[in-house]
Amino acid sequence: MTISPAPHPGTLKTPAPKSKLKAKAYQSVNPSDGKTFKTFEKLTDEQLEIAIATAATCFETWRHKTFAERAIVAVKAAAIMRERAEEFARPVTLEMGKLIEQARGEVMLSADIIEYYAWNAEGFLAPQALKPNSGEAVVESSPFGVLFGVQPWNFPYYQLARFAGPNLMAGNVVMVKHAGCVPQCALAFEKLWLEAGAPAGAYTNLFISYGQVNKVIDDPRIKGVALTGSVGAGKSVAARAGQNLKKSTMELGGSDAFIVLDDADLDKTVTWAVWAKMNNTGQCCVAAKRFIVVEELADRFLEKFQEALAALKPGDPMDPATTLGPLSTEAALLQLLDQVEDAVANGAILLMGGKRIDRPGSYMQPTILTNIKPGNPAFREEFFGPVALFFSVKNEDEAVALANDSEFGLGGSVFTQDIERGKRVASRIDTGMVFINHPTWTASDLPFGGIKNSGYGRELSSMGIQEFVNKKLVRVASIEAPA
Ligand code: NAP
Repeated sequence: MTISPAPHPGTLKTPAPKSKLKAKAYQSVNPSDGKTFKTFEKLTDEQLEIAIATAATCFETWRHKTFAERAIVAVKAAAIMRERAEEFARPVTLEMGKLIEQARGEVMLSADIIEYYAWNAEGFLAPQALKPNSGEAVVESSPFGVLFGVQPWNFPYYQLARFAGPNLMAGNVVMVKHAGCVPQCALAFEKLWLEAGAPAGAYTNLFISYGQVNKVIDDPRIKGVALTGSVGAGKSVAARAGQNLKKSTMELGGSDAFIVLDDADLDKTVTWAVWAKMNNTGQCCVAAKRFIVVEELADRFLEKFQEALAALKPGDPMDPATTLGPLSTEAALLQLLDQVEDAVANGAILLMGGKRIDRPGSYMQPTILTNIKPGNPAFREEFFGPVALFFSVKNEDEAVALANDSEFGLGGSVFTQDIERGKRVASRIDTGMVFINHPTWTASDLPFGGIKNSGYGRELSSMGIQEFVNKKLVRVASIEAPA
């Protein structure tokens, strides 16, 4: 993300009303001006049945394709995304307000992920010879069948790529209920696979209701369920999968700690802090949400951080000069404003921001809250947007204790010039991922996922592709009958 100096966001307006808007399903609404430009119908139950039947039939042939045959499709899909990056990027910006440069970056990352599994799936899923005490034993990997994914809007292609890329290469077929606010991205990704030569039913987009989500999970043809989203959605979908004894993975919310130790390089750390907080307007599961800084550096960090956030320039996310985009929807903005108001009512100090920006669209001022005590609801909540919670601590031990005092356990980061010290601190943090001298981030070849309320299971890397494959033991034993 490029962050260029710019004047402070415009004048302030009175806080938005407290009532939350109920998002209409499957609508493209431009959050930078609030205009609705396309609406899509949900599937009828009959159409849903045809889609599931098509996927189930497709699996019976797709599972028997060789890795090389599947890779031809995946490599082509990645190439199409790269060649037509602009065509893929624009709907992201239009539907959920991501800065256009970041949307292009997401398209490229998604292509990289898809291609990575084209080249590596066969190796990851190769039969594994065991070394039993006697005889032979091997573990084979085979696909489960039709998988169902429920996905969020914040990375409208990346989320789909990290679910579909590895699972399609493993021989599964996938059906996806995407978030209601990114329907054009959802359709573009489905069309991509057909254009790349995937058979009908390999990748299916489903515009369906929550009731139909449950129906899909209950359907015996569905063999696994993956959700990325909020804790509430995760509890609902995981419970349904559990009732049906279906394997599931859950990639849920986070409240990542960004720990700054006394020997950190302050200027570089602040640059990363701004990126960690403001990338995708703070709407990342692994965005830094709690800034935990040792007291020697706290004041100077805060001063520089505040200055950098104040310099962000709100504007049309299609304009490359804009460095502060809107939130994804008006409802998301209102919820965040409510959370900030509630935090302040419970004793937090609003150091900067906290209001919507006086311009059309769902824009919020970059915000810093301090003095957040354990009794304040803000201490435990996820703030999904440009709101930083700041904590000053005495030392490393206090930093670790505070980082771990959370129901979430997704990512986290530690900034120090002593890498060995960074590794020791990383080992003490109870999350699925910790980065040293970089905000938590993602790559095709790194496992992604959390613990506690941040969910279970992993996506990406050699680990993620194993989630929905049968690990079958084949044992060669002696023919000798027992005496
Ligand atoms: P969300 O409201 O939970 O929505 C995510 C998806 O779940 C959407 O497709 C949504 O559909 C669907 N959904 C919500 N409630 C459901 C229910 N009861 N039954 C069936 N489907 C349901 O989350 P969000 O606001 O879009 O995304 C933000 C959250 O996702 C944050 O907590 C963030 O941290 C988390 N996230 C986690 C990761 C990760 O990898 N751990 C990555 C990205 C985001 P509708 O759009 O139709 O409501």
